Amino acid sequence: MTPLLEVRDLAKHYPVRSGMIIARQTGTVRAVDGVSFHVDRGETLALVGESGCGKSTTARLALRLIEPSAGSIRFEGTDVTRIGGAPLRALRRRAQIVFQDPYASLNPRMSVGDTIAEPMIVHGVGNAAARRARVEELLALVGLAPFHAARFPHEFSGGQRQRIGIARALSLRPELIVCDEPVSALDVSIQAQVVNLLKELQRRFGLAYLFIAHDLAVVKHMADRVAVMYLGRIVEIAPKRSLFAAPRHPYTRALLAAIPHPDPSGRGRVTPLGGDVPSPMAIPPGCRFHTRCAFAEDRCRVEEPPLRLVGESQVACHLAEQLPMADTAAGAGFA
Ligand code: SF4
Ligand code: MG
Repeated sequence: MTPLLEVRDLAKHYPVRSGMIIARQTGTVRAVDGVSFHVDRGETLALVGESGCGKSTTARLALRLIEPSAGSIRFEGTDVTRIGGAPLRALRRRAQIVFQDPYASLNPRMSVGDTIAEPMIVHGVGNAAARRARVEELLALVGLAPFHAARFPHEFSGGQRQRIGIARALSLRPELIVCDEPVSALDVSIQAQVVNLLKELQRRFGLAYLFIAHDLAVVKHMADRVAVMYLGRIVEIAPKRSLFAAPRHPYTRALLAAIPHPDPSGRGRVTPLGGDVPSPMAIPPGCRFHTRCAFAEDRCRVEEPPLRLVGESQVACHLAEQLPMADTAAGAGFA
């Protein structure tokens, strides 16, 4: 089956120059540094990792909202890496985005109805009456009453604003929605409602999601498969069940071990990942995780591990088969 979205060796490198200090400050930020994955119709692929690992940039590259430095993007088998004009507009209809911050992503001067209708206007879909009817239908789909169309974003809570963002993303009947941390800015009590809404809409319309998150508890509810990013690369990609039950990569294990433990005594609440994430301007040679990995050996410092199949997972670690099975709740022996 041809994937809905497939990216290969995607990269985004930014040159950085500092006129203020010295020439040595000149360098390259490797924000995304060779990323490959696919998203099938109707599935959710979660992209997880610490902030600054390149998740959002990867999502924007995949939608052609920013231009890749290298690599390719295919939508249903068609190369869309360098398309422009009408073909790019056609792609925009099929692939939409929901942003993280429901406060910043809605225009405060535009009514909710106009906000939701705007993509239809841009793409010349329907007349004014048809668009009005569609806006009401979309409001109902996200659980908001039709009279809300006349209101403005400041009259809504964060959760309601995110519903409005979702209604807007749905307006062109896309097949893929990139959700860039859609619940991270919301109260925990509201997060589950929005996650459940996204799941319901997926069932109803067969939507595929590329779901960006740093919260693995949310990912556990949402994802079919999970890709873990570290410093601009995917280090593990696996079906959700395998990833949570038998994480292979030391970084995945550390992320899982950092999830608050359900034990009410608080035992097992460990944050085992020591050290800071290196700068994307100075990515360590060899395995880019070696500066924080408790298992690193000489080879790890010189030889970059490729993603390869181990069990049900694809893992970029030289020692993936040799490491003891992880006890994620106990922290798996991290420094
Ligand atoms: Fe750790 Fe080496 Fe595996 Fe990298 S390749 S994750 S440094 S054991
Ligand atoms: Mg981000």
